[in-house]
Amino acid sequence: MKPGIPIVISAPSGAGKTTIVNLILKRIKGLKYSISTTTRPPSKNEKNGRDYYFLSKKEFLNKRKARKFIETAIVHGYYYGTLKEKLDNNLKKGKDVVLNIDVKGALNVKKIYPESLLIFVIPPSMKVLEDRLRKRHRDSEQEIKKRLKNAKMEMEYRKYYDYIVVNDSLEKAFNEIKNIIKERMKND
Ligand code: ADP
Ligand code: 5GP
Repeated sequence: MKPGIPIVISAPSGAGKTTIVNLILKRIKGLKYSISTTTRPPSKNEKNGRDYYFLSKKEFLNKRKARKFIETAIVHGYYYGTLKEKLDNNLKKGKDVVLNIDVKGALNVKKIYPESLLIFVIPPSMKVLEDRLRKRHRDSEQEIKKRLKNAKMEMEYRKYYDYIVVNDSLEKAFNEIKNIIKERMKND
């Protein structure tokens, strides 16, 4: 059986990648999601084992020492990592797997799986990005400032991606990404 491919979606925080990833998983059949591990505390709408595996720093570092991750990164001051075993099992079974990970993680995944599809989502402007972060009511003011500062650095990485999609109208952005994924699935 032909192995699946990692489909990596990255974006500056607040650009809308989680919203888009949820639509992708709901509307495109046959895709799997790679649930990441993080030391960031869960927000009230997030569930352990659905949105992330939420671990203490000690637990995370133990897993990293035991080589359970294919990649880890520190993003906005917290550890994040992609677990190797689940991802590999799904790919081996021929499943394409969606990963919502940061720019450094994306490049690491591309190194390990050169066939990966890398999609970068950008907001229509930095002002819109700031508005979305505030309206989400998830992060503190200090956290929002940190995320906006990081956004500038993250935007520099878009040149390494296969596709850049502007998330202005959500439906339009989703349709663009759907077409990119469908085209790739057809050719694989
Ligand atoms: P990310 O995962 O990139 O940090 P989210 O998916 O959490 O971003 O989106 C940030 C906020 O912006 C959320 O409140 C979401 O509902 C909103 N949002 C996402 N896409 C759009 C869009 N196209 N237009 C307006 N608001 C959006
Ligand atoms: P958030 O805290 O907003 O959920 O995520 C913050 C950032 O961490 C986002 O850019 C998200 O894509 C990234 N991220 C989430 N999981 C992982 C992961 O497993 N590895 C890496 N490298 N980044 C991740």
